[in-house]
Amino acid sequence: MADLVLRAGTLVDGTGAEPAYEPEVVVRDGVILQVGSVGDYSGDADVVDYGDATIMPGLIDCHCHLQFGAYESHERTLAVHKSATNEERVMTAIANGQRALATGVTTMRDTGGYLTLNMVVREALRRGLALGPRLLVCGAPITTTGGHLNWCGLRADSRDDVIRAVRQMVEAGADFIKVMATGGMMTPGSQAGHSQYDLETLRALVTDSHRLQRHVAAHVLGADGCRDAIDAGVDTLEHCSWLTPEGIRGQSAVDEEAVERIDASHQSVHMTLAAMNRTPFRDLAHLDALPADERERIRAAGANFRYMRERGVPHVVSTDAGVIDTPFHEFPLSVISAVVALDTTPVDAVHLVTGAAAKAIGLWGLTGELVPGRQADLLVVDGDAAENICNIARTVSVFLGGREVVRKRRLAVLAR
Ligand SMILES: [Zn+2]
Repeated sequence: MADLVLRAGTLVDGTGAEPAYEPEVVVRDGVILQVGSVGDYSGDADVVDYGDATIMPGLIDCHCHLQFGAYESHERTLAVHKSATNEERVMTAIANGQRALATGVTTMRDTGGYLTLNMVVREALRRGLALGPRLLVCGAPITTTGGHLNWCGLRADSRDDVIRAVRQMVEAGADFIKVMATGGMMTPGSQAGHSQYDLETLRALVTDSHRLQRHVAAHVLGADGCRDAIDAGVDTLEHCSWLTPEGIRGQSAVDEEAVERIDASHQSVHMTLAAMNRTPFRDLAHLDALPADERERIRAAGANFRYMRERGVPHVVSTDAGVIDTPFHEFPLSVISAVVALDTTPVDAVHLVTGAAAKAIGLWGLTGELVPGRQADLLVVDGDAAENICNIARTVSVFLGGREVVRKRRLAVLAR
């Protein structure tokens, strides 16, 4: 197979480095061979010129629920999932993976579905039986009887129960372990502001997961759960909302000392922005057009994350796609929203959903950055995304392991 040379106007490489202009990316056998300037490469190749477009790494969504339908209410999402057959759940997951892939999401970490069905989905995609992104799966989330997402089928109450649940998921092929350390909004009565496990039980879960070389993602909304998850040594803190015990949104009980205890060598916080902070960006041409009151509201939603950022806490942006009003084709809107919520640059926001995300979920070195040796997972979007982040939603092409899997527009194939 001839080498593939991609040219564009701008390159954002996912490492957080400044953008490069008039770039050239060379792909050989599905892997990035070199990244340079137009004209650097002189071998035998297919050359594609994307004009003034931007090339960046394929996006990585570290938090989604492929089996869920993203309906307008928690009740409906829950009712549809509960009444579905296993075959329907698998088909929904594959279709949702394809919806995300079409917008440039080339890697997804599914943070919980029904028992071990997502292992089937992962294998179908890995074998090429269906087209879809790279997938990391946990199977079902470990939760308490009656606890958050208990209807995914993996209830564990005691220390022995959680250890057994970890081993059960690893035996079934889990890439990582998900635990519901606090209750959640989607499960009535589970008490989002309260912990589901004590610190010792969480520690036992983490110790056994790490023994089996699996990282642990903990769903944490309430402040007690955030603190215990940090101290138990979980690897990724999902949502990390620091809610008061009453579970009230908009109020925060950040434990500043606990934030200082976050171990940056392996722990990271994962921001998922609610639908109301994402939908204002549908069809927005430029951030300058965002009304000032919307900007302030979204900035307020990011206050805890900016606080943790300023203290050097590793962090990423993900979606929670599948839950209420969070469809799989809107990840680019979460990236745009993050620029406002975190008061940061487009280049940094791209880093948080590519290079930083790969590192947080153990895929650093495989994907997430446009540097030689990485898988050629690429997203090409219209215009200069480093100048105008709204361009990230204007998909032109998506490559997965060097294969073009989405093509909305190609400017010219120059030569062979
Ligand atoms: Zn979730």
